[in-house]
Order: sequence, then structure tokens, then C-alpha cells
Amino acid sequence: MNSIPYGRHDISSEDIEAVVQVLRSDFLTQGPSVAEFEKKFAEYIGCKYAVAVSNGTAALHLCALALNVNEGDKVITTSLTFAASANCIRYCGGEVLFADIDPATLLLDIQQVKKILEAHPKGSIKGIIPVDFAGHPVNLEEYRKLADEYGLWIIEDACHAPGGYFTDSKKVKQHCGNGVYAELAIFSFHPVKHIATGEGGMITTNDEALYKKLLLLRTHGITKDPALLIENHGGWYYEMQELGYNYRLSDMQAALGISQLKKADDGLRKRKEIAQHYEEAFKGIKEITTLPFHEEHAYHLYILQVQDRLGLYNHLKANQIFAQVHYIPVHTMPYYKGLGYLKGSLPKVEKYYEHCLSIPMYPSLKREEQDYVIDTIKKYLLK
Ligand SMILES: *Cc1c(COP(=O)(O)O)cnc(C)c1O
Repeated sequence: MNSIPYGRHDISSEDIEAVVQVLRSDFLTQGPSVAEFEKKFAEYIGCKYAVAVSNGTAALHLCALALNVNEGDKVITTSLTFAASANCIRYCGGEVLFADIDPATLLLDIQQVKKILEAHPKGSIKGIIPVDFAGHPVNLEEYRKLADEYGLWIIEDACHAPGGYFTDSKKVKQHCGNGVYAELAIFSFHPVKHIATGEGGMITTNDEALYKKLLLLRTHGITKDPALLIENHGGWYYEMQELGYNYRLSDMQAALGISQLKKADDGLRKRKEIAQHYEEAFKGIKEITTLPFHEEHAYHLYILQVQDRLGLYNHLKANQIFAQVHYIPVHTMPYYKGLGYLKGSLPKVEKYYEHCLSIPMYPSLKREEQDYVIDTIKKYLLK
């Protein structure tokens, strides 16, 4: 048996051919593949606009810039996420307010968010960044109501959830990142995520003004659009109108993304099959806590909670199964501790962290590998 990671990309010969075609073309970057990827991704997610960027972190940074996050602005997010969800606020000089999780969903607990909002002067908190953690879709309709009440924007960090959805109060399926309830949403195409481009990211929105601003910020704040130019000296002329960045995705990456997108539905179906198989296998074992199977979930991760997490992790590793922990709570990182965040301040996420383990979950994980993972876990816990 080969070693089994917790997550893995799946590259077909068709994917390789798509990249090779770009390598043989006139444009390695700033060519036609990026716009095509954006269009197809927007269709897949069900939103109006998509902006491809160099990675998910750049996507978050551009969102914070587009929403004018400034020195001292306060933004609420979860501590149970990859650090970038919070860091994007720090890049702009803002202050991160971490709210605790709801252990039943592992998502940001809206009651905790409300408490924080009530405890601060109105207007001092600018936005919320909920995360579709593990692939579990956040009910953004609820967050929208709260955000409207307090005049906040929402950035949905949907890195774990392409293809996931929640059902709103009108019984409409709302796909993660579709821009119906949040101003902006972001995705990552790091190889452990559903769609891989090596490095890569996407911002989705239905807001035309934000869309245009993001396009400008992605390329140094430079425009060549005659309609936007303040002066015009001739065909070569461009203007840098804002302090932007080079956060572009290359055409090689975009071509891989387009090709990967064709398999997205198939991959999601396989993830759900694996989740159901795990659920069946671990049902009734009191040593293991899992969240119940959920059709709307995108299953980026499959997480167990066990008493002896370190022991199980080491046992799996000794048997060539490389589980992972998602995540070490962001507020306990030395950088955030240095800013004054205290261990013990978010008891639920801190307790969850003591017990969680992400076991292998990716579309090409074979049934016999799943069974090997299950048997290896059971042998350790039921020894
Ligand atoms: C992966 C990830 C990011 C960052 O994406 P990169 O492409 O690695 O920069 C941000 N948020 C979450 C929840 C992620 O899982």
C-alpha cells in the first residue's frame, strides 16, 4: 500500500494536455485562458462575476482592499480557519475579532458574533468573514440579516466549499460563493482543495462596482481602458490610478483550472460517497465523534474527534496514513498572541482543537484505501 495523504490533487492526461497547449501558444500569462476560466467558474458557482488571482490569500487581500478596510477597522472571523482568513485584515491595518465556533457545525457561532456586535459601539465593526469550514456551508441568509442590521459587509471564505450549498428560507439552493447574500466570496486552487491549479484563487461577486475595483487592484491599479483614463497620450498609454498589486493568475494555471472544473461535479460526488462510507463505518463507535452526513456539504475535509488524538495520529503515520489537523486556532498563534489575543478566550474552538483529526478525503481515494484507513483507525481505538 502506498502512503495515503489527507488530501490530494487529481491530474489527468487531459489536464496535462490543456497546460501544454498554453505552453505552445502566444500567451503564458495575460492571454485568453484567464477570462475563459473566470467565465466558466462564475457559471459553475452561479454568480455574475469572477476574478482569478494568484492564490486564495491574494483573493482575501484584494477583497479587504476593495471593501476599504483601513487602520483600526474591526472585522469578525472564526479562529477555526487557515490563518489567511484573518491575516487579510491585518494586511490593511485592521483589527481581527475572533468569535467562537458552534461545536455542532464547527462554523462561526452567530450567537457569539451577535454578542461581539452588541459589545461594541455601532459602526466600529465593519465586516464579517465567515468560513465554510471543512466544506460545511454557512447559512449566509442569517448573516445577511445581522450584517444589514449593523451595516456590515460579508466576505465568504468558500475555499473549502466549491459545489456546497445551503437552502434558504424560500427553499432556494444557495451555492457557496454565489454572491446572493455576501458582497464577496473567495476560493483557493491550492492542490489540496477541490480544484487545483498549483497556486491560484478566485473572487466571486454579483456587485459590478466591486468587480471593476478588483480588476484594477489585481494589476497594479493600472488601467488601459479608454473610458477610465484621465488623460490619453496614444496607443501605448496607461494609467496607474490606485496602489494595486500583481496578483494575476497565469494562463497555464487558468488552463489547468478550466480542465479541472470539468471534473468538479464528479469529484464532489466521490467526496460525498467517501463521507458516507466513513459515516457508516464509524457509526456507533463511542470513541469517535463525527458530524452527521450532510448532502449540502462539500466535504473538503472529513474530521474525527477522538480522546487520544496524538496517539491516533502517530499510529496512522506509522501505517503510512498521513492525517492532518485543521486547524490550530488562529488566535493561539504566536503572532496573534503577540497582539494580545489570549489562550482560553475561545473555549469551544480550543477544546475542539485538542481532539480533531482530518482523515484522508479526496476523489481518487480508492475504496480499499478507505477501508484500510477505517481498519487502521479501529485497530488503534478499539485495541
Ligand atoms: C487554502 C485556504 C486559504 C488560502 O488559500 P491559498 O491559495 O493557500 O492562499 C484561505 N482560507 C482557507 C479557509 C483555506 O483553506
